[in-house]
Amino acid sequence: MFDNLSNKLDKAIKTLKGQGRITDINVASTVKEIRRALIDADVNYKVAKEVTDRIKDKAIGRDVLIAVSPGQLLVKIVSEELTELMGGTKSDMTIKGDPAVILISGLQGSGKTTFTGKLANLLKKQGKQVMLAACDIYRPAAINQLKVLGEQVGVEVYAEPENKNALQIAQNAIKHAKQSGKSIVIVDTAGRLAVDEEMMNEISALKESLKPSETLFVVDAMTGQDAVNTAKAFNERLNFDGVVLTKLDGDTRGGAAISIRAVVDKPLKFVSTGEKMDAIDVFHPDRMAQRILG
Ligand code: GDP
Repeated sequence: MFDNLSNKLDKAIKTLKGQGRITDINVASTVKEIRRALIDADVNYKVAKEVTDRIKDKAIGRDVLIAVSPGQLLVKIVSEELTELMGGTKSDMTIKGDPAVILISGLQGSGKTTFTGKLANLLKKQGKQVMLAACDIYRPAAINQLKVLGEQVGVEVYAEPENKNALQIAQNAIKHAKQSGKSIVIVDTAGRLAVDEEMMNEISALKESLKPSETLFVVDAMTGQDAVNTAKAFNERLNFDGVVLTKLDGDTRGGAAISIRAVVDKPLKFVSTGEKMDAIDVFHPDRMAQRILG
């Protein structure tokens, strides 16, 4: 995913390695190339500017100019700054309540339902008693899709195919979970093709009534800068707790992973890297920074 960005960063830093005597002009032009590489990878412009300004200050402040291996020192600084930009350390979900409720939101096609199955799989493997609630009432295929995924991972799926009231279904699911000794209910909700009032009202009402201990927003990394803009719009209405970035295995330039935290001020918690039920990773900013730097 980051091949293009990694190559460009490597090239930019190599120009510094090749210099006999390093001057702050060399550093400035290398940093400019790093900025261009980030913007080309779909990193938000303001974010790219801010982070590269910090990299430049740190590089000059930390004596890159007289370092024995200025390239290596610069790689370290870039890695530290990218890690910080993506949140510094990993951010865990809050699982609280009897049962704990995890609400899944996002646009249609973002990979919400697939992620719901994956998260159930992950939590089940950790020994949790999980149940899924099918509350995507507009897309009839979504209920079946969730049932298939539930079966695959061995987790019960609560659905009321005839009911068109998502809140009622979710409340019944929670009641059922309590009676059957489940500790976590993951609620899959309806998405639309674009952000609209009706969807926002519905998901906000679900959040208000169900009081989930964790609300996750799922977004497709392949949509680049749009992913960040959609996350911002959802967060303004929903005040979610964390972001899930999907399709990182696809043809994405990766910019959303780098900028989302800085723009939306909410942590990236999971990344999804395929259609299979185990293609899910907890997001670690430092590991991601290392991957970006190749
Ligand atoms: P929803 O409408 O948000 O519930 O989206 P779905 O879960 O139905 O996913 C939409 C499409 O994206 C499906 O074809 C999924 O198989 C696919 N998909 C979901 N997550 C990933 C992922 O991480 N990688 C890839 N390559 N495909 C994914």
